Amino acid sequence: MVQINLKKLVKKKKLLSVVQGMIIALDTPIAILDNKGLVIFGEKDINLGERYPIQVAGKTIGWVTGSKKASLVANMLSYIARAELDKKSLAIEMLEKYEEINFLYELSGKLANCLGIEQVIKLVVDEAQKLIEANNVLVMLINEETGTLEIVSEQGREHNHKTGLRLGFGIAGHVMVSGQAEIVNDVLSDPRYVRRSLLTRSLICAPLTTQKGTIGVIEISSSKPTDYTAQDLKLFSALASQAAAALENALLYKQLKDHLHTLEEKVASRTAALEKANQELHRLANLDGLTQVANRRRFDQYLQLMWERHSSDIAPLSLILCDVDFFKSYNDSYGHTIGDDCLQRIARAISRAVKNPSYLVARYGGEEFGIILPNTSSRGATYIAETIAIEVEWLQIVHPRSAVSDYVTLSFGVCSTIPTLDIAPEALIAAADEALYDAKRQGRDRVVFKLFNPSSSPELLASDRQFYCPN
Ligand code: GH3
Ligand code: MG
Ligand code: MG
Repeated sequence: MVQINLKKLVKKKKLLSVVQGMIIALDTPIAILDNKGLVIFGEKDINLGERYPIQVAGKTIGWVTGSKKASLVANMLSYIARAELDKKSLAIEMLEKYEEINFLYELSGKLANCLGIEQVIKLVVDEAQKLIEANNVLVMLINEETGTLEIVSEQGREHNHKTGLRLGFGIAGHVMVSGQAEIVNDVLSDPRYVRRSLLTRSLICAPLTTQKGTIGVIEISSSKPTDYTAQDLKLFSALASQAAAALENALLYKQLKDHLHTLEEKVASRTAALEKANQELHRLANLDGLTQVANRRRFDQYLQLMWERHSSDIAPLSLILCDVDFFKSYNDSYGHTIGDDCLQRIARAISRAVKNPSYLVARYGGEEFGIILPNTSSRGATYIAETIAIEVEWLQIVHPRSAVSDYVTLSFGVCSTIPTLDIAPEALIAAADEALYDAKRQGRDRVVFKLFNPSSSPELLASDRQFYCPN
């Protein structure tokens, strides 16, 4: 409460000269006394006559004694004191306003740096408690799915008991609906109050209102019988509206982050699916549709690759070409479809016999297969060819028109070399093919190994190849 010190007031130079001027004009002795009756100006004799009070805001702050005319001085001093009081009150009010504006300005600066919801809530709770005396601060947000108010934070800490308060229920539910902040200085006498804590005696509840509408409420409460004032309500409401804007931004930011995360996940899963589809495409491009072993394209590619690698490593490379004996007459006996089944079973049998992952089994032509055997010499390759022959024999595919067996058999041509880059890989194919031809000629159902001799077919020298396309 602002107070006026009469002694200080009277001692002010300007006023003093006015009072002295009045005494001369009135031509009567007076004395000015303070509220304890002590003389602060004029005659020391305080029994000059009547006492006239000097009053400000209903309170007597001193007296003027003297003749009747002294009442004029008392009135004038009352008037001046009132003016002084107004001036002082105004100055204090202005200071308070300045402090409020400064507080809100600083708060908005701090909030502008908060992006996370928890960060915003913690800052708002801390600032609210600096501003208004309280024991607890609750932040409640509307859950759009359930349409209820949920406590998301208590004292700046995340709240896990998310029991919802229906709109229109409790003081918070009412504030949410009305959009108007409220002071309740005695919660027990408010019939709307839903008891949550025995400690709450008084509270201020303000809506968190954004441009979109009210997104929740903020409630500050005290366990003491505090008399929250209209000034507290005004300040708390201002804080709530700043908090609402910051919360709205934080919620949007979170939504954006979640959305981005979902997008990233979608992109990642689509990339993975594409990669898988690509791999499948790649696999299909290199696979023979009927027998599911490598196709001719892959065979050529792999042979070229191995040829180059073994040239620089100076390592042996072998090739087996094998062909089904009397397959035309097999088809004639059972038809093309059973013939296809037969080729599939033979391909599987070859794959079983060829276990080394660096070996490549391919369908070279109609009923002919090629097996590329890196780092394998003639002995190893011949052994593999014989193992294949046994695997096929075990299949016991009945062949009524074979001239060499009751079952389907294969003939093998095997060739090995340490490749050099001056010779084309087709030379190895030609040599294996010659060996296969020999196997057929010698009566079929056998393995024939042939020495590699590229000079016998000069057209296969690399320098004579005009075109080479690995794909
Ligand atoms: P040889 O012992 O001399 O190899 O006699 P062959 O009858 O096996 O040889 P030939 O070249 O006369 O006949 C090959 C047969 O292979 C003819 C063709 O119909 C059959 N053939 C080639 N590709 C396929 C295929 O994909 N499916 C089926 N069912 N038959 C095929
Ligand atoms: Mg053939
Ligand atoms: Mg054949």
